[in-house]
Amino acid sequence: MESNYRICNQCIMDTTVPDIVFDQDGICNHCHDYNDRIIKDLFNDSEGQVRFENLIKEVKRRGEGKQYDCIIGISGGVDSTYVAYLVKRKYGLRPLALHLDNGWNSELSVANVEQVVKRLDIDLFTHVLDWDKFRDLQISFLKSSISNIEIPTDHAIWAVLVRTAAEKGIPYIFAGNNIVTESIMPGSWLYGSKDSRLITGIHHKFGKEKYRNFPKLSLFSYVNYFLIKGIRWVPVLNYVPYVKQDAKQIITDELAWRDYGGKHYESIFTRFFHAYYLPQKFGFDLRRSYLSALILSGQVTRADALSEISEPTAPADRLQEDKEYVIKKLGITPAEFEEIMNAPLKLFSDYPNNDRIWQRLNWFVKIARQWIIRVK
Ligand SMILES: [Zn+2]
Repeated sequence: MESNYRICNQCIMDTTVPDIVFDQDGICNHCHDYNDRIIKDLFNDSEGQVRFENLIKEVKRRGEGKQYDCIIGISGGVDSTYVAYLVKRKYGLRPLALHLDNGWNSELSVANVEQVVKRLDIDLFTHVLDWDKFRDLQISFLKSSISNIEIPTDHAIWAVLVRTAAEKGIPYIFAGNNIVTESIMPGSWLYGSKDSRLITGIHHKFGKEKYRNFPKLSLFSYVNYFLIKGIRWVPVLNYVPYVKQDAKQIITDELAWRDYGGKHYESIFTRFFHAYYLPQKFGFDLRRSYLSALILSGQVTRADALSEISEPTAPADRLQEDKEYVIKKLGITPAEFEEIMNAPLKLFSDYPNNDRIWQRLNWFVKIARQWIIRVK
């Protein structure tokens, strides 16, 4: 290990994050950011509960006489499955569940989604992406050599949720994004997925053909849906005490959900992205950020996290299998794949993007968050 290697004394973020900063006690900037965020965005205390129950009343009131009162996204993973469970069983809402089929779902994830909506008696709508076109878009992202090749999928999920909410006149989207298990994500590791201009720019440069009806949200559509149409995003897991292990137990017992053995491993591409692509090409391991969030929220000890991160991301034969599967499914040659893996690393800022405008809109995003929180 190189001599200037450092790791935080509190979490396990380390100098694989290029711009990490440590204070005089050896505590990293991500620990400090986490503390700021739980003050601003986490409402799982008793006062938060009261506010949240009032919000639920409001959701029910606005949903009266309608078929659904909220929309949820369902991937088959722990977070979204637990959201489905809470929304329906605990709060008695009538959600419409949306699932994005990007061609990479594992058989187990398909079985989990079916099982969960059946047990909870929730209507499910699946949006299926055009595989040939989506494949072309994914290859574009691989060729771009930026780290976050999951941007097309993450953006499409969000776009389908928001658009469906607007089309069906359902004002609330209950989402599984949460602070206690996923709030530590260095911007220098992964650029977020909200920027449709980056998707268009990368695909324009590397794609074979245009993907006109890819679900996208432009800056204008954000304004239209959130400001004009008044759609509200509710990160429900920030309003309840969320302990991952307990949530897993509940959905296993109550909904016959089955474990994948890794965060976001319900998709084969995501598993390849976490366990192979990022560590091999970029030299960092996303488990470090998830484990760090779990340490800071008191769900894992630092010693256990260190022991887990010292294990390989996946067994070698599994990595090889996934790699071969990805090559075959994307329809590229092993030589093309190696070329992608060996190409020089790029940043999102090497391509057209709206990051500057998003930075300037930060104040607006913060206010939009407060709207939800302030509901009395
Ligand atoms: Zn730290």
